[in-house]
Amino acid sequence: MTKYVCERCKKEFKKKSNLDDHLSRKKLCESYEDRLAREKEQKEKEKEKKQIEKAHKLAMKEENKFISHLDKVIQQTEEHKKLQEQERQNELIRQQELKKQQEQEELRLQYERQQKYEEQEMLRQLELKRQRDQEEMIIHHEIQRQKEQEELRRQQELQKQKEEQESLRQIEIQYQKRQTELRRQHDLKRQKEEQESLRQIEIQYQKKQTELRRQQQIQKQKEQDELIRHQEIQRQKEHEELARQQDLQKQKEQEEMLRLKEIQRQTEEDVQRQKEHEELARQQELRQFHENRKQMLLQQIEQKNNEQVRRYERTYEGRFKKTLGLLPKSSY
Ligand SMILES: [Zn+2]
Repeated sequence: MTKYVCERCKKEFKKKSNLDDHLSRKKLCESYEDRLAREKEQKEKEKEKKQIEKAHKLAMKEENKFISHLDKVIQQTEEHKKLQEQERQNELIRQQELKKQQEQEELRLQYERQQKYEEQEMLRQLELKRQRDQEEMIIHHEIQRQKEQEELRRQQELQKQKEEQESLRQIEIQYQKRQTELRRQHDLKRQKEEQESLRQIEIQYQKKQTELRRQQQIQKQKEQDELIRHQEIQRQKEHEELARQQDLQKQKEQEEMLRLKEIQRQTEEDVQRQKEHEELARQQELRQFHENRKQMLLQQIEQKNNEQVRRYERTYEGRFKKTLGLLPKSSY
């Protein structure tokens, strides 16, 4: 019986088609060594899990034991605590009762003390009131006496003061009257003296003013005379200067007029001379022209005469020669 084995994962197949399907699938198969390693790891992990579970079980047992022990201990401690609390409560109740008894005793003592104290205070206050009443009565009597005495003294003093004031007023009135009379007399004297002094001062002032006015008038007259003199001198000077300037200007104008007249005369003479020269030149030119014309006319006349003579000679040569021969020789 032949078996078909995959070389990679070493699986055995009974038919070849199964091996071909196995080899032709897309996901590659796991190699034999990897599979062995994976199986070993799984076994180790299972062993570790078993050991951990054992340890956990042991720990759980120990914990349960410990918890039960702790419960026992807690129950014992709670019972102990309850007993202690009952004892403490009993003690507290005893102490409270003792405190209440003590407080009641203290209250009784305090009440007794307060009653005694109040009685003593009442007695003291009564005694104090009696003493105060007596003292007040004595003080009141004394104050009345003092007031009466003071009133008497005041009345006496007032009377004395009034008398003194009246005497002082009379004295003051007399003094004032004397002073007023003295003042009036002094004032009258002073007024008279002042009036006299004022009159003298006014007289002196008027005299001084009149003198000053006279001096001022004299000075003004002098100044006015000097001013008039100065003005007259200045006017004379100005007139003289104006006359001089006018004479100078007239002389200058006359000189300038003479110069201008001379210049005009010279220019007129020059113009006349030039006109005469021009006229002379024109007359000479006209004479020459007329003479030239005369000569030209004479020449033309001679030429015409000569031509007539020549014509005559051409036409009548024989006769001309005869006439020439006949004419005297000096006529040529
Ligand atoms: Zn395989």
